[in-house]
Amino acid sequence: TAPPAADARPVRTTCPYCAVQCNFDLHIERGLPVKITPTRECPVAHGTVCKKGLAALNDVRHPNRLTQPLLRRGGELVPVSWAEALAYIREALTPLLERDPARVGVFGSGSLTNEKTYLLGKFARLALKTPNIDYNGRYCMASASAALNRTVGYDRGLGFPLAEMGESDLIVLVGANIAETLPPLVQHLSVARRRGALVYAIDPRATTTARVAGQHLAVRVGTDGVLALGLLHLMKRWGHIRPTAPAHGLLEVLEQADAYPPGRVAAECGIPEADLLTLAQRYADAVRPLILTGRGAEQHAHGTDTVQAWLNLAYLCGHFGKPGGGYGTLTGQGNGQGGREHGQKNDQLPGGRSLRDPRHRAEVAALWGVSPDDLPQPGLSAQNLLNACGREVEALIVLGSNPVVSAAGAGQITENLRALKHLIVIDFLPSETAQLATLVLPGSMWCEEEGTTTNLEGRVQRRRRAITAPGAAREDWRILCDLAAAVGRPQGFTYSGFRELQDEFFRATKGGKADYSGLSAERLDRASAQWPVPSATGPDTPHAYAPTYPTADGLATLHVPSFPLPTPPRTLTLTTGRLGGQYQSGTQTRRNPALRAENTAQIHPDTAREHGLGPGDSVTLRTLHGQATLPVSISPAIRADTVFLPFHWPGAANLLTDPYTLDPVSHMPAFKGTPVTLRPAHAP
Ligand code: SF4
Repeated sequence: TAPPAADARPVRTTCPYCAVQCNFDLHIERGLPVKITPTRECPVAHGTVCKKGLAALNDVRHPNRLTQPLLRRGGELVPVSWAEALAYIREALTPLLERDPARVGVFGSGSLTNEKTYLLGKFARLALKTPNIDYNGRYCMASASAALNRTVGYDRGLGFPLAEMGESDLIVLVGANIAETLPPLVQHLSVARRRGALVYAIDPRATTTARVAGQHLAVRVGTDGVLALGLLHLMKRWGHIRPTAPAHGLLEVLEQADAYPPGRVAAECGIPEADLLTLAQRYADAVRPLILTGRGAEQHAHGTDTVQAWLNLAYLCGHFGKPGGGYGTLTGQGNGQGGREHGQKNDQLPGGRSLRDPRHRAEVAALWGVSPDDLPQPGLSAQNLLNACGREVEALIVLGSNPVVSAAGAGQITENLRALKHLIVIDFLPSETAQLATLVLPGSMWCEEEGTTTNLEGRVQRRRRAITAPGAAREDWRILCDLAAAVGRPQGFTYSGFRELQDEFFRATKGGKADYSGLSAERLDRASAQWPVPSATGPDTPHAYAPTYPTADGLATLHVPSFPLPTPPRTLTLTTGRLGGQYQSGTQTRRNPALRAENTAQIHPDTAREHGLGPGDSVTLRTLHGQATLPVSISPAIRADTVFLPFHWPGAANLLTDPYTLDPVSHMPAFKGTPVTLRPAHAP
């Protein structure tokens, strides 16, 4: 479809900067967007947008915008034509693919539209035939996704419409700083509080959310799961166990809770026992309590088990799947929900199908016109893929991601990327990863492309194209089709236009757990829809998680979580996270003058005193994995045993994190909980 003519009616689309996906109108003048106005019809934010959404236009036509392919020659990235760029692709990748397709990796993003997610997976498996595709969602909510999938067979972040949060009478936010990262959700907290609900923030920092919530438990980093076990212990002791539905593993999970009496739990979590008992009493008394986890609970070496512990609690107390209650995960990336459903994970096919399941392989192979045997088996997950770069993996194609900043152990990962024979980056701004590339292909940004995205409540919405990509930049889906042709495998990538791709994508989800097959652009023009939507004439599914689940026997399986034995902290503990005005690795938001922010290490006044630090001083932080020097911000809002770093800047937070320790189920790196030492930067 052509973009609208200059000065046409505003284009309604969705904000790309977080998983709420607020709707707004883009006003166009002379082919450029000039103003954003929120819309009251927005089903999620009802006429509000946050400062990030309002500032989104500053990135459009940014002076750094990539408008021409860039090829590394003589050590420099120099502009070349598309023909030269595609010739490079052919010469670089064809010999590797002929020798061993696994030598070529693909790294995607939770910011991609559903259609690009789908096409990237198809491109990897059909055109490259490589098993090695994964994406940066492994750095986001992968642990919550893994816990839900293994328990009830699928994962939709919230099983009910967002507005129903306001009907909960107790909301427990575990490691979720929504006031900064998902601001529209605060209105639902406020509604709930006006109706008498209590809101708890479980977080080692007194974040903005903790202040809004009113109730705060400042647990030690990495002990959220132990807190859940302590609550389960008390629910059992007080006679509040009434499982949501029959399930496997109930008795084992309840037996484990016996070992977590309040005294032990309070000591391990570093909180007063009385506060634990008060929260437990409130959970016991609540009719519709809601537990929501965020990255604080999930980004650990035992993140899946941490989420599992909270999920078990909700399930065993009869709340899982209740409208406005139970358990949910607050996914963060712009398309964090849809991005994890349609085939860019190493073991996944579209519609949330499994690459390991013969039936799923046959269904998707039939759609793609190939034999199931032509589809590769699951390959390396995200961090393992980056760890293999420069060794088993010789070429990497990156679409819309910046692992030089966002991957764990970023120093090592940068070295690995430098060691690749070919690093091909498709992006619209020169991220730190693009700056290392051998070839940069200028892609499209959110207002230059059509597609759909799926928000944190499983709501599928249309993204509409408002302007044309500048210069020689192309829509990403066209670039993927060009790459397939360049490696001599255009079959399946010769779409007459975007609409043909989109219709194929919807069809490809049919029968999957995340079934979008009843959707069309026309239906989404009338209203957004929450998946599954299996029929063009049937309803969508505002309430997911019915008491029977898409598991082998329809029952849930609760797993016994396990956590490492706590060791007395000998050093400070590093935790990393997000700031309100920034998005992911900051490629867009660090360039945005309206979103300026400082990269500082937050420490407690006691830590500052102990190390002779004052306002304006800098520290050098050191872990087993690297070191970084940056200014401190001194605040009583953080536990004295904890250091906080935002992860949006290069050369800082992820230089300190561990590239090798991964959650065994989700393969999420341990972004939180790294032992760290600090000394004043001026010290010898
Ligand atoms: Fe809405 Fe999130 Fe965009 Fe802010 S960043 S306007 S909350 S979608």
